[in-house]
Amino acid sequence: MKKIIAVLMLLVSLSFSKPPAPKLIVFISIDQMRSDYFDRYSSFFTGGFHRLYSKGIVFTNADLNYATSETGPGHATLGTGCYPAHSGILSNEWIDPITKRTIYCVEDSLAKQVDGNGGGFSARNLVVPAIGDWLKASSKNSKVVSVSSKDRAAILMAGKKPDYVFWYSRKNGAMMTSDYYMNTLPQWAKDFNASGWIEKNVPDAWVKSLPDSAFASLGPDNFTAEPQTNGTSAFPHPFTAGKKADQIMGTPYGDKFVIDFAISAVQGEKLGQRNMTDVLCMSLSNCDYVGHGYGPDSHEQLELLAAVDKGLGKFFDALDAAVGKDNYVVALSADHAVCPLPEYNAQFRNIPAKRYIYADDIKPKLDSLSSLLKYELNSSEDVIIKNSFINYSTAQKNGWDSLKVEQELTKGMLAIDAFVGVYFRHEMMSTAPSAKPFMQKFRNSYYAQRGEDFHYLIRENCIISSKTTGTTHGTPYSYDTHVPLIFWWNNAVSKKIAREVHSADAAPTLAKFAGFAFPKTVDGVPLKEVKR
Ligand SMILES: [Zn+2]
Repeated sequence: MKKIIAVLMLLVSLSFSKPPAPKLIVFISIDQMRSDYFDRYSSFFTGGFHRLYSKGIVFTNADLNYATSETGPGHATLGTGCYPAHSGILSNEWIDPITKRTIYCVEDSLAKQVDGNGGGFSARNLVVPAIGDWLKASSKNSKVVSVSSKDRAAILMAGKKPDYVFWYSRKNGAMMTSDYYMNTLPQWAKDFNASGWIEKNVPDAWVKSLPDSAFASLGPDNFTAEPQTNGTSAFPHPFTAGKKADQIMGTPYGDKFVIDFAISAVQGEKLGQRNMTDVLCMSLSNCDYVGHGYGPDSHEQLELLAAVDKGLGKFFDALDAAVGKDNYVVALSADHAVCPLPEYNAQFRNIPAKRYIYADDIKPKLDSLSSLLKYELNSSEDVIIKNSFINYSTAQKNGWDSLKVEQELTKGMLAIDAFVGVYFRHEMMSTAPSAKPFMQKFRNSYYAQRGEDFHYLIRENCIISSKTTGTTHGTPYSYDTHVPLIFWWNNAVSKKIAREVHSADAAPTLAKFAGFAFPKTVDGVPLKEVKR
């Protein structure tokens, strides 16, 4: 009898105790992925996106909650749970307030490139730790590995002291790193680079895989605001012999390359196959490249997403086999979303959208504003510097206090059709209530030590471009900031959750789920729906 009771008690305690911590955290960013791609295209997904969307915890209203919707800040926020105001990565590039030199977010004059041609980059400009650093603080033998085609994506998700960070060298058609991380690639990575992946896997052209009916709700494949080759932007998109290493970026083959490399990393480093938790960050960049070129409503974007879905399906199958289905957790989000092609919005959605060509529509007006302020102040020095800083002392010397110069600058900027708001340093550093739209998003983006004297808000649904084709992101409007946020683990009870959450919540949610501590200073919060 005693034995039976003991067995029963054991069974009861087993059934009520939490399942063990995951052995692998898989943190995926799909660069430029819009949340609405899942609503629009889920019927075409059968692989990895399907697994996540149909069986995971899906937050349908996830927002960046900051203004600079770019790749650097996006990946830093995903990795660290901190807004740009605290991660220090306020934009992809910023102008140093003292030297006025442009600084790239992952540039590092001390780091040297290793096994490729892509610059000496590192996480030196990131001022807070990321999820991998949090894990290693309590589990020093845990491994943290990050892969992407883009240096800034891989580096900023991985944090300050990961084990390995890899990005793509277009010149070599291979994954590379810098000596901030390691002096030579591990053998499995060298083997992958030497495996002839491109020759084996990339055909002569990127062709359509979905039936014509899949594109019925979209505009034409050949559209004037998409980049034209030989008079058309339609499929197929041929590769140039000898240039595939460069040209696979901007097609699904760029992401397939990175996914296969990530599978090699899981096998080579035995990620999730040791008696502890590891972290694998993977950012797939081609949604961004294709989106910039062809826009979010293009046939190319649907084809790219369908290919990523298949690639992720293969990736999860590989994890099921190597790590075990019960032993890993996945989070998927994005660094930012994107504005539709203005021409597409105007033609097919009847939205007043406009493309401003920088050289024709913007620069001459900014130049004349600059000249006007100089003239009005009778100043020999520029009053506006690099369209980002204000020469307050010159203005002061000539009789304008800071309020007056800001008023005049605002008046001049708002007289330019493309701009609808100007935000000054002291406003972005303040916590006082403000009537200006998106002020909190601008504040969450503003890292004062690296910040400019003013930022501006572009008119909604409009872009400033150097070209007559393509589109971009970077504003606080929801089309740029509404991103997917999905968590999946085996046997999760699938839900769609509509309350507003933020991409900064992803990292603390994963840490809580896996049972390790994170700094109290992060901006994100663990999402209560994600629990074992
Ligand atoms: Zn982009």
